[in-house]
Amino acid sequence: MKGAPIQDEVIVLRSIKLGETSRIVSCLAQRHGRVKLVARGVRQARGRWAGLLEPGNEVEAVFYAHPDRELWTLAEAGLLRAALTGGGSLDKLSYLLAAMELADRLLPEREPVEAVAGMYRRFLDHWHDEGPEGMPALFFALETALLDELGLSTDLWRCGECGRRLEEGEAAFFRPAEGDLCCRACAGGNGVWVAEQDLGLWRLLSGFLDRPEAAPALEDQQKRKIGTLLHLHMMHHLPRYRIPASLFWLKKPDEGEGEKR
Ligand SMILES: [Zn+2]
Repeated sequence: MKGAPIQDEVIVLRSIKLGETSRIVSCLAQRHGRVKLVARGVRQARGRWAGLLEPGNEVEAVFYAHPDRELWTLAEAGLLRAALTGGGSLDKLSYLLAAMELADRLLPEREPVEAVAGMYRRFLDHWHDEGPEGMPALFFALETALLDELGLSTDLWRCGECGRRLEEGEAAFFRPAEGDLCCRACAGGNGVWVAEQDLGLWRLLSGFLDRPEAAPALEDQQKRKIGTLLHLHMMHHLPRYRIPASLFWLKKPDEGEGEKR
């Protein structure tokens, strides 16, 4: 039984083939959370929606919900903003796909996580406006915001053990299992030190998506450090987390030989 059609704005996260002519499209819907829609006839040469259901695209969708079935049915789709037609570099594309993959993997299905769709829209605003140099910082800002929304925020200003305020210009010890920072006196056990500059950067990236300024270009050492902290945090607390496949495209063959492209 078909219910009433539902209209919602969605961001396409992933699109996979189904049979000869159809696709399954994983979407982040503004009001419905992550949903899986079946798009029939989409792969015919001049089929409707050709090129529309690509990752990162924002789409006005009409669909039918079937509470008892795994897939809902896409009935109509209109493009609001295309991500990939903007061209851009391989770096930009990689980070876009990585961001979409994280949502596809980590968000609960059919459970609207308040503010996540808006957060992704703000990520896309930045992504469209910014050059490749800002992409790593932008992606880390997204990961930080996603952790916050999933209830895994790290207090970057307080020691998780003694509660003392961590001052600016003070290093701290990150404990992935606890997901917190410790002051020098409380540091111990499994974790990694975060130098004061890196902690300053982490604080800058926290809440960054809400701000209009461009993402800072990070040095390689900063990318590694912040990337590792967030990776460890997600590895410990999100069983479905994996490093997004598209980020492996960024590994340069000459890496480690100290040579720039
Ligand atoms: Zn302490």
